[in-house]
Amino acid sequence: MTAAVEPTSPHVMNTYGRVPIALSHGQGVRVWDTNGKQYIDALGGIAVNTLGHNHPKLVPALQEQLTKIIHSSNYYHVPGQEKLAAKLTELAGMTNAFFCCTGLEANEAAIKLARKFGHDKGIDKPEIVVYEKAFHGRSIATLSATGNTKVQQGFGPLVEGFIRVPLNDIEALKTRTAGNPNVVAVFFETIQGEGGVNPMRAEYLQQVRKLCDERDWLLMIDEVQCGMGRTGKWFAHQWAGIVPDVMPLAKGLGSGVPIGAVVAGPKAAHIFGPGNHGTTFGGNPLAMRAGIETIRIMEEEGLLENAAKVGAHLKQSLLQAFEGVEGFKEIRGQGLMLGVELTRPCGVLTARAAERGLLLSVTADSVIRMVPSLILSQAEADEIVAILVPLVKEFLAEPVAAP
Ligand SMILES: *Cc1c(COP(=O)(O)O)cnc(C)c1O
Repeated sequence: MTAAVEPTSPHVMNTYGRVPIALSHGQGVRVWDTNGKQYIDALGGIAVNTLGHNHPKLVPALQEQLTKIIHSSNYYHVPGQEKLAAKLTELAGMTNAFFCCTGLEANEAAIKLARKFGHDKGIDKPEIVVYEKAFHGRSIATLSATGNTKVQQGFGPLVEGFIRVPLNDIEALKTRTAGNPNVVAVFFETIQGEGGVNPMRAEYLQQVRKLCDERDWLLMIDEVQCGMGRTGKWFAHQWAGIVPDVMPLAKGLGSGVPIGAVVAGPKAAHIFGPGNHGTTFGGNPLAMRAGIETIRIMEEEGLLENAAKVGAHLKQSLLQAFEGVEGFKEIRGQGLMLGVELTRPCGVLTARAAERGLLLSVTADSVIRMVPSLILSQAEADEIVAILVPLVKEFLAEPVAAP
């Protein structure tokens, strides 16, 4: 047997602590590395590969699109933008969309919308309420909105105009904004992703919606990770029966093709006019096709129902296996967005799981995160459990490393 070759990337900037494998191809929720080793994928490219790999309906549609036109420029109308915007706004109960390429870009657009909303009302120094443990991206503005000092370290001065509050605490939100005429928006993830899979409670979402209406603030919900069907509804906030004014999307929207969108309701849909915002690549015909086909296939194959059902099964199975285990704290999340929190840092599990043929990630130091493709079957969920449970139990039985 030939020894496995560990890939290296000496010419690539060293910005990621990578697991020493390189993926070569995939089929459904299975992927193979360049040494031929097979994995079951509970990470889904970080909530991106909605339809898994090599989907038999998505791939031919993209191939056909490649032969027609990939990019045309926003100097011209792009029919796919109108088609995808119409679909997204219908699903969201909103009215207009702007297209970009990534999550941080969608969030940048949201921040700009909120600031212009303020300026249009005569507020010269608009402020946006953001949350502890939030993650909104790594541009200077979005990392300033992010609630993790590790992301910010070394990149000051940060952008001003953000007020930070704790999650799920309506009194704290009221106190922190009391008498402040500069507040223009409240901005959060329905379920925080990078921050450790921390959900906002339905009651809190309803309270914030009401407060935003009373005070004429924009409610801006970052559904970049938790949106696009992952929790069993198109957008996670829909479980609370509310509609935001602004909703950034990205990750799962194109099932792997880079795409971002900011969707807006009537209060925010007409803030931008010509010249206020733009992007070269955003909304190109290939990305639009990916978004349109992803949603069409999700509807055809009942993937929202699947995410809810298989996610509940996975959560229940893990809960049963870990209940009472020393070092297990809790499982959070909904549908196919789950976080298993341990009582101590467990970053080593990302590589150890890969060694055993399971892809996942650890976020917020001690939370094992699973955000697989929405095509995951119950039997495949059981395979994840069969690898993960003994791995975690062995880890928790090890003596705690001295600090
Ligand atoms: C990943 C993520 C982002 C940033 O998206 P990029 O495409 O990496 O820029 C923003 N918000 C949330 C909630 C995310 O999970």
